[in-house]
Amino acid sequence: MDGYHSPQLDVRVRLNTNESPEPPPVAWVDELTAAITRVDWNRYPDRSAVGLRSAIGHLHGVGPEHVFAANGSNEVLQTLLLAYGGPGRTAAVWEPTYALHSHIARLTGTAVAVGERAEDFSVDPVEVARLLDDARPELAFLCSPNNPTGVVDDERTVAAVLDRVDAAGGLLVVDEAYGQFAQWSALDLVDADVPLVVTRTFSKTWSMAAARLGYLVGPAEVVAELEKVVLPYHLDAVTQLAGRLALDHAAEMDARVARLVEERGRLVARLDELPVRTWPSGANFVLFRPTRLDGATVWRELVDRSVLVRDCSSWPRLEGCLRVTVGTPTEDDAFLTALEEILT
Ligand code: PMP
Repeated sequence: MDGYHSPQLDVRVRLNTNESPEPPPVAWVDELTAAITRVDWNRYPDRSAVGLRSAIGHLHGVGPEHVFAANGSNEVLQTLLLAYGGPGRTAAVWEPTYALHSHIARLTGTAVAVGERAEDFSVDPVEVARLLDDARPELAFLCSPNNPTGVVDDERTVAAVLDRVDAAGGLLVVDEAYGQFAQWSALDLVDADVPLVVTRTFSKTWSMAAARLGYLVGPAEVVAELEKVVLPYHLDAVTQLAGRLALDHAAEMDARVARLVEERGRLVARLDELPVRTWPSGANFVLFRPTRLDGATVWRELVDRSVLVRDCSSWPRLEGCLRVTVGTPTEDDAFLTALEEILT
């Protein structure tokens, strides 16, 4: 099988991996630097990361027993699949969506049942019913806002999928790596008796992609199952500290999200003046398809102008599409100027 890669190139403007364009607050870097000098380096870290999980739980109004933290939300997804997937079990996804859901499923020997999204990339309840009735999956994955389309599933749709997954005895995973950029969150649906977990990451909103920290919020029973399969001491002391200290800067992070959401509006408005189709985005990126030139050519010409976006043009169901991360206004202007030059 092929590995999962996001190609990197040495360019001036990098808008291809949905990172935050801003570094974390300087105060956080200073606090982390000071805290690192106090780590007991000869000792294993807190195996259950209680301090970090309590702080994340506090953010969401739940106790630490409802929080599982790992090295990026990808490790959270992997741990879910190790615990609930495996040979003889099935995970359902609706394409196009985040490739790692099906990729990690396959790595763990889990069968993948593939449903189709509607033409506007929304999740269609009829197709959901068909897939769940056919496949009876142990796990079902939604991604909202969805990567790479940016489309947010509405609350009624998620609630309907949850009812069906529940009736089939499965667990619903809502991947909210970009949840803070959207208008609503499935976190409101999480409850002790509900088979739902919501995954989040520090990589985007929290400007901490380099730290590798993600988590989920869900029923304590599910968290206990995940603790059984994850490697002992998987989350090192520095990552735990980095996350705990970041949570003291929630207000600055909220301000960054607000700035990016505003900038996303400006970017979409400018894109809509060009010969491209865009899809409504609730994330920190925008999917678009040039209507007069093919996507791969436009991608190459952007690279020639030192601008890197994600080339989705050869991905199934995304023919001709490119995905651009919302950057700083200066980065976005460089992208827009280059794109305008190429397309007009
Ligand atoms: N879920 C989605 C939808 C993503 O786009 C990403 C990052 N590309 C992740 C999860 C994983 O992020 P991380 O492992 O950095 O938390």
